[in-house]
This record gives sequence, C-alpha cells and structure tokens, in this order.
Amino acid sequence: MNTAAATGLLLLIAAEPELLAAAPEGADRGELTHRVREEDHLCLGCGTQAVCAVVVNSRTAGPRWLDLCSECWFTVRLANESPQLPQ
Ligand SMILES: [Zn+2]
Repeated sequence: MNTAAATGLLLLIAAEPELLAAAPEGADRGELTHRVREEDHLCLGCGTQAVCAVVVNSRTAGPRWLDLCSECWFTVRLANESPQLPQ
C-alpha cells in the first residue's frame, strides 16, 4: 500500500465506518493486545495477517477496529500525518 492508497483508505473509513467491526467503548491496551495476539484478523490494506489494531472513533458509528499489518500501519500513519488529496 502506498501513501495515496492509505489516504484513500482513510477517506473510505471516514465515509463508511460501518465497513469496520465495532470496537468496545473505551478499549484499553489489554483489549488491543488480545485482538492482535489471540484473534485472527486480516490487514485492511493488503489482506495479510494483521499485527496491530487501532480503534478509530467515528462520529457517526462509534468506535471501530482498524486491523493492519506493520507495513500498512506505517503507511497509514504517514498518510494521516501528511494529508493530501488522492491523485
Ligand atoms: Zn497490510
């Protein structure tokens, strides 16, 4: 996944948060660790095994899980820090 794809992913999540699984309200570090270590989830960016989970707080849909592999997580963070319009 490149930065443009990550930006697109973030826009998609903002527009359609229901695509992500609902996360518990106020999920703590233990719940994040459990989701990554004890459950099987695929990276939303590329479909490989996810190694990190992030809670996205959607204004319309509440907290949602975002599962990513380490490479996509890195790219998504970069895209999130340097917003740009998709090409
Ligand atoms: Zn990935």
